[in-house]
Amino acid sequence: MRAAVFHEPGGPDVLRIEEVDAPVPGPGEALVRVRAVALNHLDLWLRRSLIVETPMPHIGGSDVAGEVVELGPEVTVPGIEVGTRVVVDPSLACGRCEWCGRGERSLCVEYRILGEHTQGGFAEYVVVPAENLMPVPAGFDIVRAAAAPLVYCTAWRGLITRAGVRPGERVLITGASGGVGTAAIQVARLAGAQVFAVTTTEHIERALELGAHVAIDRNVEDFSRRVWQETGKRGVDVVFDSVGAAVWAANLRSLARGGRLVTYGATTGHAAESDLRLIFWKQLQVIGTTMSNRAEFRDVMRLVFAGELHPVVDVVWPLERIAEAHERLERGEQFGKIVLTP
Ligand code: ZN
Repeated sequence: MRAAVFHEPGGPDVLRIEEVDAPVPGPGEALVRVRAVALNHLDLWLRRSLIVETPMPHIGGSDVAGEVVELGPEVTVPGIEVGTRVVVDPSLACGRCEWCGRGERSLCVEYRILGEHTQGGFAEYVVVPAENLMPVPAGFDIVRAAAAPLVYCTAWRGLITRAGVRPGERVLITGASGGVGTAAIQVARLAGAQVFAVTTTEHIERALELGAHVAIDRNVEDFSRRVWQETGKRGVDVVFDSVGAAVWAANLRSLARGGRLVTYGATTGHAAESDLRLIFWKQLQVIGTTMSNRAEFRDVMRLVFAGELHPVVDVVWPLERIAEAHERLERGEQFGKIVLTP
């Protein structure tokens, strides 16, 4: 099969289209013909500097949709047969540990992500646990299905499960033009929140179109100051952030009394200073979140399929343009998801 492979870490030029053996599904697994696969920042991190568990040579790609072409032995997942159009839950968990027992797959002691710790979907075929598959309704665009899982799972768990956003609350989303950011704008709106989006000059209009009530241009103003003006010196109830160190102080300043700061990444650096006086005096909560459990995956995908949430697709390119796709994401030029079609 054709696959986008890299043999060592480096720049986008390490990515090559090669002929490799198609994987074979083992017990409980399914072979999926990949029709669409979305790019994530995770793919960039991995290409630049691998984690220990990454199999080499490596095929990335965590957000996959396509159709089942073969089932391994012992597969008994209702609704999943050869020919079923499917979207893949990228979370891989052991199913045996204390946290799996509680249904919290993303807290699993052996938690892994498809395409990070395993060979992923930047290829014609991928093997995944059959229990990770969810049927895509007839007529639903396979590209939008692939654009959804990782970012909507992250936004849903972070805002709904972890932060418990309620109607009328004010939610600030940093990095609002990215995949998770565009998903978070919609999830926060669906929850009935007033949404503040922090983005760059060229993406202001689109953030507003997507449902943000206030879009703040981080190139021209300090967003915490603007939040203070817009809220009558009150602040927002929730900040949803993966920018990390560069905005951490501004995140804390933006919060109202009793506010929650949800962190799901640290793109600009993971060592940030906190003024502890702000945290205890304003009684703030700092909440970590990552990916989702199976129930959250199914809940959010049902809302996507029902048209309540609309995955934003930036471009759809053939797999051969993967290096260019990495460059586009690296430069932050995209609005929404870059999707490749193997
Ligand atoms: Zn586990």
